Amino acid sequence: MNASILVVGGNNFLATFVQLIQQVADFTLEVASDPDEAMPLIQAQQPDLLVMQAGQPTTLELCQQIKAQSRLSWIYCIIVANWNEVAEGRPPVESSLTSKLEFVESRANALETGADAYVNLSLDRFFDQELTEKLQAQWINNAIAQQKRLFCAYIRAGLRRVQNHRELMRTNDLLSAIALSDPLTELNNRRAFEWELPRQIHNARAREMPISLIMLDVDFFKSINDNYGHLVGDRALKLLSARLRHNLRFYDTPFRYGGEEFVVILSDTGFQEAGLIAQRLCRLIANQPFNISDTLDLTITVSAGAASLRDRDDAKGIDLLERADRNLLKAKSLGRNRVVCEEGGGGRMEEEG
Ligand code: GH3
Ligand code: MG
Ligand code: MG
Repeated sequence: MNASILVVGGNNFLATFVQLIQQVADFTLEVASDPDEAMPLIQAQQPDLLVMQAGQPTTLELCQQIKAQSRLSWIYCIIVANWNEVAEGRPPVESSLTSKLEFVESRANALETGADAYVNLSLDRFFDQELTEKLQAQWINNAIAQQKRLFCAYIRAGLRRVQNHRELMRTNDLLSAIALSDPLTELNNRRAFEWELPRQIHNARAREMPISLIMLDVDFFKSINDNYGHLVGDRALKLLSARLRHNLRFYDTPFRYGGEEFVVILSDTGFQEAGLIAQRLCRLIANQPFNISDTLDLTITVSAGAASLRDRDDAKGIDLLERADRNLLKAKSLGRNRVVCEEGGGGRMEEEG
């Protein structure tokens, strides 16, 4: 297991626990002498597990900071208290009861603040001196071994949690990719478009940059299905999508809007440039036949409508999309295999025959 652990504490704490952790497995281990020194390391390296000495002034604050940041909150935080330090200087019976109460309170505080586990151990000197002398060495050794075992079990439990989390994140990424991708063309799908367009409009407005859309629809696509069958239609859509994708700038994103309709978001692109890009795409598709099989090449044309964002357009992009779609319908009605890029209200029109 290639897990990483950061241990935070004073010299004695580090000496004891680094050694113990190394007995559990071969981890990547880092150490820091206090929580303030630990934070930059956590930000930079994002360890799987954090083992912290209880009682350092900012230990709980560190926990709180980690849990407040979504990119760090999955780090498993274990706080380790030393029972002997708490009991120090008290008569045996009183020390036992008081420190039990103090332990409960400290544990509640730690867990409420964001720690995932709070362990109470006394590895350096078990019970107070007087009692220790009365007990047999064998018994003490057993007790210490059990506490070490408990600590190691906490480490393993923490790592299981982090591993489960990582696995879940991986699955989540995969499911997102599936949910946003069109299986036939491998382009982003309409769901991805509806998520991406408002985001890009927001960015364009924040940076005062233009943004445009091109809507494309394959001409007489139904006749391809009717004449050659749906599998040929599918192959044509696949090849056409690949040609679109390969002929766009890297910051322009094509989507399959549905059926034989596509939409391209052109970032940092104004009205005039959008019209030119749409014309170039139309030409690229019409001028070179699509090689469906060894015996079939198909000439396919598309019609396109382009539009650019206006100040009064809504934030989701519905107005923008509607204008691009209206222009596409005009391109169809004007005879197909052409681009209409009309601003409306006395704008201009581009055509490609
Ligand atoms: P127009 O020039 O007016 O756009 O005519 P068209 O034939 O392209 O338009 P129409 O809307 O009449 O037909 C679109 C066809 O696209 C109908 C539908 O069966 C087909 N289609 C949609 N999605 C797919 C697909 O994934 N695979 C295949 N093979 N055909 C599809
Ligand atoms: Mg259509
Ligand atoms: Mg069509």
